[in-house]
Amino acid sequence: MPSVDKVARSKSDDPMMDMLKTLILIVASISFLVFVALFGRLPVFRKTPVGWCYRLLMVYLPNALVGLDEKLTGRRITRTTTRVYNYLMYDRHPVVLIIFVLLQLGSELLFLPPAWTYIPSNVQRYLVLPVLITLPYSTLYLSYSTSSHHITPESYPQALTRYPYDYTLYHPHRMCRTCHYPKPARSKHCPICKACIERQDHHCIWINNCVGLHNYHYFIALLVTVAALLGYGAFTGFGILEKILQEMFVPRRLTAGSLTSKRWSTGLSWMEYFNAYTVCLATNARIGAVTLLASMTCPLALGFLVYHAYLIWAGTTTNETAKWSDLREDIQDDLVWQARIDDVKTEYPGPLDEKIVYDSRNFRDATSRSGRVPSWGYGRKAHWWIIRTRGGVNPTRWKPLEGQYESSGRQKVEEVIDERWKRVKSLDEIDNLYDLGLVGNIKDGLSRPWRDV
Ligand SMILES: [Zn+2]
Ligand SMILES: [Zn+2]
Repeated sequence: MPSVDKVARSKSDDPMMDMLKTLILIVASISFLVFVALFGRLPVFRKTPVGWCYRLLMVYLPNALVGLDEKLTGRRITRTTTRVYNYLMYDRHPVVLIIFVLLQLGSELLFLPPAWTYIPSNVQRYLVLPVLITLPYSTLYLSYSTSSHHITPESYPQALTRYPYDYTLYHPHRMCRTCHYPKPARSKHCPICKACIERQDHHCIWINNCVGLHNYHYFIALLVTVAALLGYGAFTGFGILEKILQEMFVPRRLTAGSLTSKRWSTGLSWMEYFNAYTVCLATNARIGAVTLLASMTCPLALGFLVYHAYLIWAGTTTNETAKWSDLREDIQDDLVWQARIDDVKTEYPGPLDEKIVYDSRNFRDATSRSGRVPSWGYGRKAHWWIIRTRGGVNPTRWKPLEGQYESSGRQKVEEVIDERWKRVKSLDEIDNLYDLGLVGNIKDGLSRPWRDV
């Protein structure tokens, strides 16, 4: 039986333990970098250390490297790297998806054989485990294979009437320069999927697809099932390591019948505790590595899940949070004005007629084509028109001058301040048209595809 003292004393000169500590440090650093790369560009982190690290990693460091390459090879390395990077980042390819699957499959193959006998019950072995293992693959496949929210000429009329324009983030008549039609409200063109996506949330490289109207529920299910699997892996893994340590330090055969058989770590200092764990991880590397990986990545999956729960609660999408954040900054810079749509609509390019839908080739009647009236928010429409003006100047209008005419006979006009526009002082003055309240948002976010396909 190895004594705790011996373990504690042997720590500093054991190369295996040093290597393990380095390994833990590397895994922790990689997890942090992945976190920064995934979340650093979110508006909520814009003025925090995570945002600064993101800019350091994604802007300043690449710029410095390009500068160095300019001097050394005349940018040849940069050109090749850019080509590979562009393929990996801006083309639809399954590299990350495959890594994701291999990582999960590899971890399961590493973990399960040595851990099998430690798994406490048959219910866990033959019911909980198979369910937990299969669900992430299924939800991943469903998220990946859904493409019904990729807008095509056929689906365009329905996409256009799916949500009303809010005249805040989405205005009618804004063209998609690639697809050559006015963008439907809440849609965004994805350069990777090469299509406009209905209620686009974000393009997700893990599923090699856009997260949008028709796979948002699968994506949420994927986050839930991955978090559950990782949580289970971490929990069971540490449970097994604890059992092994208990058996190492307080063997059952020596304490059988004792009423006071203590927990293995009772009385240990933090250092001794850490070193005992290091030995245990080193001697049970397969269980140890997967347990560490699961416990470090589980918070990432949970973080994503909490973030999307917040988005659902707020009735918004990842794409829209960036737009809201830009709007907030523009309001702070006094650039934003609002007017009642009914007051100003005759003088500005109006909304598309609610029945007439335009696509690049011809006019179509959406109601008669799809055979029914769009269901969402019927009767719910924007009342305020939000605009930004250059330099924040007050919008103006042309006022006819009473009794004054040009030589051509036209009435003279003068440019005057348009009093109908009021400056927006705070984001609180603006409503989010797409926020239907918690129940409405959950229905809209998660059950839409079953209600209208
Ligand atoms: Zn497009
Ligand atoms: Zn996409």
